[in-house]
Amino acid sequence: MVNITESTRDKEENLVVMFDSVDYDFVHVTCETDDAITNVVNITESTRGKGENLVVLLDSVDSDFVQVTCKSVTSNRVAEYTNLLAHVHPRNSFKRNFHRVPSSLSKTNVVMLGFDSTSSMSVLRLLPKSYSFLINTMKSFVLHKYNILGDGTVSAFFPWLLGKPYTGKDEICDMSDTLDNCPFIWNRFNSSGYVTMYAEDSPTINVFSHYFKGFRDQPTSHYMQPFWLKTSSVSFCIGNKPQHQILFDYLHNFQNTYKNVPHFAFTFLNKISHDSISTLQWADDDLLAYLTAVYYKGLFDNTIFILMSDHGSRFSSVRKTPQGRQEELLPFFSIFLPPKLRVEHPSRGISLFDTIPHNRSCRDAGIPPHYCSCLPWQPATKDEMESMKVLMIQVLNSGSIKYRHLCDELKLHKMHSANTSMFTKQDSDKDTHSNGIKKNRIKLYRSVIETVPGHGIYDITVPVGIDVKNIDPSYPLVGISTLHQHGRT
Ligand SMILES: [Zn+2]
Repeated sequence: MVNITESTRDKEENLVVMFDSVDYDFVHVTCETDDAITNVVNITESTRGKGENLVVLLDSVDSDFVQVTCKSVTSNRVAEYTNLLAHVHPRNSFKRNFHRVPSSLSKTNVVMLGFDSTSSMSVLRLLPKSYSFLINTMKSFVLHKYNILGDGTVSAFFPWLLGKPYTGKDEICDMSDTLDNCPFIWNRFNSSGYVTMYAEDSPTINVFSHYFKGFRDQPTSHYMQPFWLKTSSVSFCIGNKPQHQILFDYLHNFQNTYKNVPHFAFTFLNKISHDSISTLQWADDDLLAYLTAVYYKGLFDNTIFILMSDHGSRFSSVRKTPQGRQEELLPFFSIFLPPKLRVEHPSRGISLFDTIPHNRSCRDAGIPPHYCSCLPWQPATKDEMESMKVLMIQVLNSGSIKYRHLCDELKLHKMHSANTSMFTKQDSDKDTHSNGIKKNRIKLYRSVIETVPGHGIYDITVPVGIDVKNIDPSYPLVGISTLHQHGRT
């Protein structure tokens, strides 16, 4: 038996805390009271309202996550209050670092916070207060026309965290097994003496669990996956808190705990925006509160803070419109640079910190034509539409030949749209003219088709007159987006 913290005891004279079980990821705390609901409510309030009490309590426990169950012993009720709590508990090995780091830090912290399925426009529409604070107060830079490199979350996460585009092949590391041996950026931060954190909600659909086998070992110093796995919540809240608030608090707590230690955090929210974009607006006040608190506490003073998203909405009905299509390609990306860094590194070649030349093309930036938001598309002629009907179905079926014993051959049910464009297939400086013909220009077909069986809807881009088998896999000229949802990311 362990007494609960002093301040709580002031109010709750009869309160006793027991540690039922202690393991690496979870500690189960049972709070017993000799009164019924009144005291239980007080526990919740003191935990929530003052916060500090809980930290004192949890600091005696070597875990970031605690399940608290408060029972009444007099009313015979099984559980009056139960909740999962997350906070950053500094492990002993990191605490030692506290004393080694000089007060004038030479290493800059990096904190990334992302939203799933949120276009740049959606940030303006649904997070206006936070956006205004980012721009007007923090003077963050926004990467306008920041363009996706491929389909879905995974195509954003690979460049962010592994520094390379996702090709579906094991080029970076063996992805048939768990991802423990992959060269994630947090490994580099770890070996440079940083404390690291990776936190992403929705444990079954987050990118490394959904597409891959996740991690066998904890990948970062602090890792939130055990918390989310324990919640298995289908709603937007866990106990008395919205999921996004739990993540903001955990991140804030991390930054505060390690304010004197170099730190790297990668945090990503799926739940609030994945299935419907309109729910994102619930996070604006809470995000603004997080930004305001961290900024004015000085926790961004030595921190590069990146607020970003992976792609626009992929499955909502708006995706079937030209506007929705364009928004999928243009997610949000903003960077806050600490003033010290701006002075020390005023410019660097072609980088995120300098002006990008006007003639830079999608090809130069490694963006395949299917995902290039700059391409002008014209309506296809009748003849072109007829050839598209054949070509698109061929391309779709060629992808499933190996699985014909499992997958039926698809047939065209309806063609929703049909367009064409011209694309420069090599770097812009090689786009030379010869006898008036642009050598490196190819024609693209693009169409949204619905197929049977299953009524799947696909948005497909195919180059005309090029054998699909000869296409460089590192820069695919064929692109397929699935507009119906059979995966979740
Ligand atoms: Zn996503």
